[in-house]
Amino acid sequence: MASVSIEGVRKSYGPVEILHGVSIDIADGEFVVLVGPSGCGKSTLLRMIAGLEGISGGRIRIGSRVVNDVPPKERDIAMVFQNYALYPHMTVADNMAFSLKLKRAPKTEIKARVDRAAEILGLGKLLDRYPRQLSGGQRQRVAMGRAIVRDPQVFLFDEPLSNLDAKLRVAMRTEIKELHQRLRTTMVYVTHDQIEAMTMADKIVVMHDGVVEQVGAPLELYDSPANLFVAGFIGSPAMNIIKGDLRTQGAAAVVRTPSGLGLPLTSAPIASDGRPVTIGVRPEHIHLDGGGMPARVMVVEPTGSETQVMLNIEGTELVAVFRERITARPGETIRIKPDPALIHVFDAESGRRLAA
Ligand code: ADP
Ligand code: MG
Repeated sequence: MASVSIEGVRKSYGPVEILHGVSIDIADGEFVVLVGPSGCGKSTLLRMIAGLEGISGGRIRIGSRVVNDVPPKERDIAMVFQNYALYPHMTVADNMAFSLKLKRAPKTEIKARVDRAAEILGLGKLLDRYPRQLSGGQRQRVAMGRAIVRDPQVFLFDEPLSNLDAKLRVAMRTEIKELHQRLRTTMVYVTHDQIEAMTMADKIVVMHDGVVEQVGAPLELYDSPANLFVAGFIGSPAMNIIKGDLRTQGAAAVVRTPSGLGLPLTSAPIASDGRPVTIGVRPEHIHLDGGGMPARVMVVEPTGSETQVMLNIEGTELVAVFRERITARPGETIRIKPDPALIHVFDAESGRRLAA
C-alpha cells in the first residue's frame, strides 16, 4: 500500500495544455474518486499515475518515490479499464494468472494468488470457464481479479462500470466498495457519474477543464460546494440556480430575483446591500408549506418513493422533490417554501461560495 501525491501536474499535447497544474494528496489506503464531465482530463491524469502518459510538468509520487521517470511496470500499480479486454482463448484462471506467469512467478504462488482473488470475488466456480461463457458483471469481476492477483500498491480504475446495465452497475459499485474495505489498498477511481462518486468515495476530487474545482468528502461537497460548478455538478436532480440581488436589513437578508421573488436567508453572507448574487436551492430542500409562496405546477414526475415537480413561481422555474405524494395537476397552484437555512449563496461574477 502507498500514498499518491500529485504536485502541480501539467499535461500538454503539442501546444494544447489540457491539465493546468493539478495537485491532489491521496493518503495510504484511501478510496479517492476523480469525477468530472467528459473531456476534463480524468483519464489522462490516471494514465499519468500509471505511467502510460508522460508528465509535462510537476511531480507524481507513489509512496516516497518520485515516479515521473519510472516505467509503468516498475510502479507497482494495477489498472482496471472500462473495456476490460480479457483474453478470449484463456480461461478465467489463466486470464487472472497471466501477469504472474509473465513475471515467472512459481506455480504454487500463482495458484495461491488466483485462488485467493477468486474467493474474494466469488469466482471460485467459474475458474475453468472462458470469457464468452460469462455475464458482463462476471467479466468485470475477472478484470478486477487480474488486478488483485498482482497485489499492487495502488489500484487505478477508469470508468470500470460504464459498460454494465444500470442495475448491475449499482451492484458492482457495492462490490468494489466492499473490496476496498477488505483489501484497504489505495484506490483511485475515475468516473463521470457523480452518484458513483458520492456513494463510493472517501474523498472526491471534482475536475473541470483540466483543473481541480474542489476536494472533499462526499457530504462536504454536497453541503458546501465551493463554487457554482461544483454546486451544479454534485446532487441529482441538479440544484436550482437563480440570479438575484442580496438585500440586507440588519442581521436579516433576502435575495430578490428580477421577477420579484423574495427568498429569505437564515445566515446572511458578509456582503453589501444590493450585491448581485447567484443562489442555489436543492430540489430536496423545497418543502410543501401552507404559509409558503404560491407555485404553479408545470410537470409532475412520481417515482414511487418521491415525486419530482417542475414549478413556476412568478416566472422563475424551479425543480422540487417531495417525499409526499403530490395530487396537484399541471396548471394548479401549490404552496412551497425553500428551507432558508439551506440556500447557497455565490458571488454573481466569480461563482465562488459566499454563504450557507
Ligand atoms: P476524460 O477522461 O475526463 O473524459 P481525457 O483525459 O480522456 O478526459 O481527455 C482530456 C482532454 O485531452 C480531451 O479534450 C481530449 O480530447 C484530450 N486528449 C486526450 N488524449 C489526447 C491525445 N493523445 N492527443 C491530443 N489530445 C488528447
Ligand atoms: Mg476518460
